[in-house]
Amino acid sequence: MQIGLRTRCYPKPRLAITLAQWTGCQRVVGNAKDSEVNLLLWLRKRAILSPSWEGPDPQMEPFPLDQTFSQFKTDLTPWLSEVPSQILRNGVVRYKKGWSNHWKNPGHFRRPRRKKKADSNSVWLTRELFRFVGPGLVEIGTAAHPVGVLPFVQHRDIGEPNSIVITRASYGHWFLSYASDCVQGPEMLPDEARLKALSKDTDLESKVKGIDRGVVFNAACSDGSTFKLEDEAKEQVKWLEKRRKGYQRKAARGKKGSRRRDKVMGKAARCSARIAAINEDFLRKASYQIAKDAPEVTALEDLNLKGMTKRAKARKNEEIGQWLRNGAAAKSGLNKAMANAGLGNFRVYLEQALRKLGKMLILVPAHHSSQECSECGHTEAANRPDQETFLCQRCGHADNADLNAAKVIKKRGIALILSAGTADSAREGQARPGRPKGRGVVRRIKGEQPSAAPETRETPPSTEPVWAA
Ligand SMILES: [Zn+2]
Repeated sequence: MQIGLRTRCYPKPRLAITLAQWTGCQRVVGNAKDSEVNLLLWLRKRAILSPSWEGPDPQMEPFPLDQTFSQFKTDLTPWLSEVPSQILRNGVVRYKKGWSNHWKNPGHFRRPRRKKKADSNSVWLTRELFRFVGPGLVEIGTAAHPVGVLPFVQHRDIGEPNSIVITRASYGHWFLSYASDCVQGPEMLPDEARLKALSKDTDLESKVKGIDRGVVFNAACSDGSTFKLEDEAKEQVKWLEKRRKGYQRKAARGKKGSRRRDKVMGKAARCSARIAAINEDFLRKASYQIAKDAPEVTALEDLNLKGMTKRAKARKNEEIGQWLRNGAAAKSGLNKAMANAGLGNFRVYLEQALRKLGKMLILVPAHHSSQECSECGHTEAANRPDQETFLCQRCGHADNADLNAAKVIKKRGIALILSAGTADSAREGQARPGRPKGRGVVRRIKGEQPSAAPETRETPPSTEPVWAA
């Protein structure tokens, strides 16, 4: 499995200036390409929006996309000629890749968009633009014209990635990212085959572990172990949040676009970054611990993470029982955003840790896992008198609510394995369901008359590059 890794790096001022320049050039070239594409799409739409047209949406269908960029080097953009041409080419290729990703999986990848200077600023470097020259050192620039050596934090052997991305965060930190397959675990059968083999196992009880992700305990396991952020770390997070709020208030009073305000915003962003770091540290360590203790299969509930970002709406939705609980607990103190990020990332980290050890993660349906009795299966809202306790209204089974949920998840995991390969598994839930729904799904409305559309879109999108305006 290839995964993206990101570490801090520390360019010296001169190199930082060069990298910022490269970043800007890649952004500009990508945006210029975007303008070209917008014109093409507009023309296509006009051409095909005749009354008889019933074909596909031009945005959803592949169209020819070249990788030329020399047309962007004009008298108005002398600075584009100052950077290595590979930088510009990479900008175009990156943009093109955005489209092919979108066509391959429109539910997951949006179409590439214009980037602003204030957006994430990164530069994509291919092999000819960097060389690893020692542990934690990467030389930037072509072999003939090296620009400088960039020190970075090397946590592990990173092999020889084909490309790297250098990002400057809004608060001034620099990051080096690359794809790595260092999470390659022992050679294993594909997940489906493994599940099928397991479904014939008679001792699933000891081979499956259920984990409930929550807010009181970040993770509660069906074997009784629990993991939560330590109080000390929690205090620190609280303190950072308070500080961040202070900076945000200060920034709100400042003048937009002023240096002073930008500085304050940077401080606020730095607080956010530190909170994220504390959270990630905990989640990584907890995941590793869980993975080490885990039997062959670990089951997690398939939380609706999309719904989590739309908190207000999700709270009304009775279908997503687990999610309702998180919202309530987050209200009572824990930072919402952090809880969200934590739950999502936890799955990713856990999967990485498990895979490294040759173990397996399955996702089970999450509905009402917090209200179901792990003994008799009775499901009722009244089973949860409060956040902590679970008391079955039918059989009287009493337990810690999170542990009960973990056991329910384990039960569902076993059921999922037993149904592996049957028609049931195809319908109910797969071992690792991708989510083809979500943003960017086809917007075309079937049967709609596109007659009025051309009049409303008279002005073609500008092909002028941004800098010419
Ligand atoms: Zn019961």
